[in-house]
Amino acid sequence: MKPKTRTGLPGMSVDDIHRTHYSDQIQDSIVGEEISIAGWIEDVRDIGKVAFLTVRDIRGAAQVILSNETLKKAIDTPRQSAVIVSGVVQHSKSKDFPLELKAGKIAIVGEAVHPLPIDPTGRVESSLDKRLDSRALDLRNPKTSSIFLLRSKVLDNIRMTLRSEGFVEVNTPKIIGSASEGGANLFAFEYFKKQAYLAQSPQLYKEQLVLALDRVFEIAAYFRAENSNTVRHLTEFLSVDIEAAFINYEDAMDLAEEVIKNVFRLQMADRKDSDALNDLSKIPIPDSIDRLTYEDCVEELCKEGEKLEFGDDFTDASLRTLGKLHNGFYFIKDWPLELKPFYIHEKEDNLKLTQSFDLQYGYLELISGGQRQHNPLKLRKRLIEQGLNPANFDRHLEVFGWGMPPHSGWGLGFDRLMMVLTHSDNIRNTVMYPRDPDRLMP
Ligand code: ATP
Ligand code: MN
Repeated sequence: MKPKTRTGLPGMSVDDIHRTHYSDQIQDSIVGEEISIAGWIEDVRDIGKVAFLTVRDIRGAAQVILSNETLKKAIDTPRQSAVIVSGVVQHSKSKDFPLELKAGKIAIVGEAVHPLPIDPTGRVESSLDKRLDSRALDLRNPKTSSIFLLRSKVLDNIRMTLRSEGFVEVNTPKIIGSASEGGANLFAFEYFKKQAYLAQSPQLYKEQLVLALDRVFEIAAYFRAENSNTVRHLTEFLSVDIEAAFINYEDAMDLAEEVIKNVFRLQMADRKDSDALNDLSKIPIPDSIDRLTYEDCVEELCKEGEKLEFGDDFTDASLRTLGKLHNGFYFIKDWPLELKPFYIHEKEDNLKLTQSFDLQYGYLELISGGQRQHNPLKLRKRLIEQGLNPANFDRHLEVFGWGMPPHSGWGLGFDRLMMVLTHSDNIRNTVMYPRDPDRLMP
């Protein structure tokens, strides 16, 4: 059966549907031409003889003029319904729209309910929670969609940078048979008759892969049972991971810097997409990123009156203090051995320290990385020191006897990077369907 258009409206069957133009393609050069646009009714204005519709699509909005009684019936359609309009482009007297489409035909192809759960124009504000409950509709708000248009471009840009540095994109398993980095925060589930886990990171796999592929990167979601409701943790988050053979941790920091700088260059070149966001120019493109040591930071914090000793981890409060002392991006490197996972390489000249780093933006940790231990005997020893059972890592450790080169890498919390780029104070803003201890839907 042929789908029908709404009764009482000048007909176009769904078979006629063919968008010829997006709203931003309505320009002087096509005045007088007959075109079709498609989108959602945002506003209607009836001024008597004629009426106006504002039709929004992903690229902007267009004005449609309805100039006879039959066409004017379209203004009874609930707002946010999906429509296709064809007509002729003409000059308009409106302040907001220099050009408009003089409708010849309108098809209401997807009617919206009334009232909607949230107002996607943003005029009536809703809490983040409510917006997340109706995320697909929230995404029709340009302020929300611009975050995700930017997100897609930034991912592209990072892929480009890494490929140009000789990295190959890989995909490692997310269903794993043993804990990759020790027990905490793992989601476990029954896998046929066995116990399996969701991957917390690609750490062990990406290290194995440098032995053959030299330089690898992966962009994927990971899962952590973080039972704390913070603005920077989700139970499912996207991570950009790299691992490279024959590089040290300073080289790995250089690569992180290059990735970040290229993202900022893209952002500046591409401001239009982000207009709906806060003023992005407030974030300066970093020239080079300071590399402080963990011990520098301890000293700074002590000067600020905090009671800290070597070996203490930085609390949230400490990180906020450091964030105030160091605006923007900075590295914290050379962390104490006991604060880092078993696979991190110690410093040759001070065995209490490691060749490790975090990249911070203010208080927010974006990246952790470092040089890895590639000596299987030392790696086994480190596992024991950290209370892990080397037997659970047999399949991993054996790989280190197959000509494992020295290697380094890092993991970048991509959703957190998006927080920085969009001035967002909550990671949930930058993820389409965030997952946290309370939220499993939609
Ligand atoms: P944090 O101390 O902030 O919990 P972490 O040190 O446990 O982070 P890593 O294991 O170093 O995290 O992971 C590398 C990066 O992945 C982090 O720097 C962060 O950007 C991101 N990340 C880690 N856990 C989460 C999470 N639960 N939600 C969002 N991003 C995360
Ligand atoms: Mn970390």
